[in-house]
Amino acid sequence: MFKPTAIYFEKEIENYELGKMLLEKYQEVPKVEIENHNNIEEMRKKENSEFLKMKRNLIIGVRKTHQFVENHKVSDYLVPYTSSGCTASCMYCYLVCNYNKCAYMRLFVNREKMLEKIIKTANQSEKELTFEIGSNSDLILENTITNNLVWTIENFKSVSKGKLTFPTKFSYVDDLLTLDHKRKVIIRMSVNPEYIINHVEFGTSRLKERIEAINKLVEADYEVGILIAPVIFLENWREKYHELILYLQENLSEKAKKQVFFEVIFMTYSYVHNAINSEAFANAIQIFDKTKMTGRGRGKYMYKSEIRKEGEVFFREELSHYFEKNRIWYIV
Ligand code: SF4
Repeated sequence: MFKPTAIYFEKEIENYELGKMLLEKYQEVPKVEIENHNNIEEMRKKENSEFLKMKRNLIIGVRKTHQFVENHKVSDYLVPYTSSGCTASCMYCYLVCNYNKCAYMRLFVNREKMLEKIIKTANQSEKELTFEIGSNSDLILENTITNNLVWTIENFKSVSKGKLTFPTKFSYVDDLLTLDHKRKVIIRMSVNPEYIINHVEFGTSRLKERIEAINKLVEADYEVGILIAPVIFLENWREKYHELILYLQENLSEKAKKQVFFEVIFMTYSYVHNAINSEAFANAIQIFDKTKMTGRGRGKYMYKSEIRKEGEVFFREELSHYFEKNRIWYIV
């Protein structure tokens, strides 16, 4: 269980039920009052080498931006929701890239306002909309601190239209299993070969636990997807991903195998990742391979198109062999 070393909080959170609950829950933890969760000077000034220590803090505030961004993948909109950042430390995490080294977990206590906007948008739409609520954090992990996911599902179940979706790398799903979710929630479990989980996705659940969580969620009648992401073209990547897909075939329940869909995403990387990783994880493996990646502006890198094409052919062949009838939403 995550125990923060310090809590940085905006005074306003005392006006919210969740804010009061969190202050009470962490009454023993040292606290620092802040003006704005977006701009904590003390944190901005820290060295990259202090990245992991910074991740031990919890920032609690009120979310001010509520703008939805159109999306055309599994969801229709990316929605800013109850948290951003995470206590884990995947070396490629795109939140690091967006927030520089400030990818620590921030919790937002005005959840009623955020869910209300989703419900209103869903009800006003002619078509059935799906809202991605987990693009800025990991909500299964966040739920262990706030119970927000349970609260969200309970409060969304009787809405007549719309679905919610989020990805996760965590197996802590037990609190969700008995909820009356009415199949309005799509949970997408992110997986990678065991070697990558152990050497790159620090602080996340093991592969075996993630697969067990998928089987439990399917048994509890949730719609479940599998995100093979991010694909990292390390040495022997074919063998590594072949073993992963075989592992899925052998360990998913029959019921899960019948219904899961797939998304495949190739890793992107950035100058910021490189700077932080080389100082914060000096002994870790190198995931940036300049012979395989190319710049795509603003210090960001993506795999070269011939590598991506090779990867796409590989994943289409493997998945159609082992999961012949399952939908692949996209490979990007
Ligand atoms: S679990 Fe997700 S949000 Fe957390 S560090 Fe890893 S990629 Fe980032």
